[in-house]
Amino acid sequence: MVVTRFAPSPTGELHLGGAWTALASWVVARRAGGRFVVRMEDIDGPRTVNGAAEQILDDLRWLGLDWDEGPDVGGPYAPYVQSARSGFYERALDVLREKQQLYPCDCSRAEIGRTASAPHEGDEVVYPGLCRDRDPNRPMKRPPAWRVRVDDRVVHFVDELRGPQTERLDSQVGDFVLKRGDGLFAYQLAVVVDDAAMGITHVIRGDDLLASTARQIFLFETLSLRVPRFHHLPLVVDLGGGRLAKRNPMSTISGLRESGVSAHAIVGKLAFGLGLAGSDKSSSPTDLVEEVRAPCWPRERWRVPERW
Ligand code: GLU
Repeated sequence: MVVTRFAPSPTGELHLGGAWTALASWVVARRAGGRFVVRMEDIDGPRTVNGAAEQILDDLRWLGLDWDEGPDVGGPYAPYVQSARSGFYERALDVLREKQQLYPCDCSRAEIGRTASAPHEGDEVVYPGLCRDRDPNRPMKRPPAWRVRVDDRVVHFVDELRGPQTERLDSQVGDFVLKRGDGLFAYQLAVVVDDAAMGITHVIRGDDLLASTARQIFLFETLSLRVPRFHHLPLVVDLGGGRLAKRNPMSTISGLRESGVSAHAIVGKLAFGLGLAGSDKSSSPTDLVEEVRAPCWPRERWRVPERW
């Protein structure tokens, strides 16, 4: 059975980029007669905005989307809110610890920066393995982060939109953090544990997360979990081709709604941009389920319409 999910971080209102991936995931599940799951990714407590989770669910409902499992409706793999799932993440860390693949790291950012190299300008810094072979029981300079030991395998996967991808974690990423020194679990760990626990078969999300996928596949495999398929959609951009400004009311679902744009107009335009419909005429999400042709996923970033 096809199981997809929408996994927003409740750090603000639902914007068009979120609605874009939510609609794509929903349509894929519904056309296949599968399940659609909503999961709140609120592990980054300090960035979570009060009331944002409820508002996101309201906006999704207003657009005409529904879900089989989620924070408000529950389901067999509850809870669907990451802040309530710490026990699952701790257990995954225990598995890695037993396999000697997890170690504490008390390096400061400055220490890492002095010895690390970024493979290309603008890339993330590769952790140089400073704590890899240190005694894990030594006195720590600060509360340690926990890093997973990567190996020299090349991670290969085929993205449904972007085609074959490869990454070598040891030279391009280094041992990465799964739990921070301040106790917060890393997105990379939580997303893998939850996608596996919830039986997600197709991960459909924005291509800003393409670069995280090799790390996630490595974790699925190391934890002996089933690896889902990945679809990375081009992002939604503003009229000038830049990143959506979340403060612009015409970028958020509630802002568009307040200025009188209908849910069906939004769904119709997003669906056309996503290649889920042959025209941009207004439609409800359920109209899109009737469409028989296979989605013709976009290659280019989708620019928000000038007029709704
Ligand atoms: N919570 C992440 C975000 O809102 C998405 C995670 C994912 O789809 O894997 O950016």
